[in-house]
Amino acid sequence: MSENIENKTFCYKHPERETSLRCNRCEQLICTQCAVLTPTGYRCKDCVRGQQKVFNTAQVQDYIFGIAIAALLGYLGAILVRFVGFFVFFVSPAIGVGIAEAVRWVVRRRRAKSLYQSVTAAAVIGALFNSLPALLGLLFGSFDLFGLLWSGIYIAFMAGSLYMRLSGIQIRR
Ligand SMILES: [Zn+2]
Ligand SMILES: [Zn+2]
Repeated sequence: MSENIENKTFCYKHPERETSLRCNRCEQLICTQCAVLTPTGYRCKDCVRGQQKVFNTAQVQDYIFGIAIAALLGYLGAILVRFVGFFVFFVSPAIGVGIAEAVRWVVRRRRAKSLYQSVTAAAVIGALFNSLPALLGLLFGSFDLFGLLWSGIYIAFMAGSLYMRLSGIQIRR
């Protein structure tokens, strides 16, 4: 931050560029080239970079526990939706939200996009595991198309709401 006697202010990285724009987080003076427009206003590149680091706070055990919980709940959810009939359309997104909340609790709200993707994939695999008998049934001629269709709806709705719920935290911050 450099200010001279004529009250002119200059960019903290480019002392030759006059500017009155300030980063709204650290209040450094920034020129238009150094300013990054964020949802909360103009910020300097250092602050933006610092924030991106905060977005990726997940640790190795978060992946292990997150994936285990999501796979288990995805599997249990698949059993549950067999009994709800048409309500699969309402129950599946709710299960997705429930899994997301369980995962958030387990990983103590640490975050990383790759964590969300792994967790969603794990929930889908858990759910598919439940459809395994029906899928194997196809090979042996017992054709449970209705059951498979229902599982498909469940997996799509559950995974969609799970991923949106998890990654939603990131957007709101
Ligand atoms: Zn800043
Ligand atoms: Zn600059």
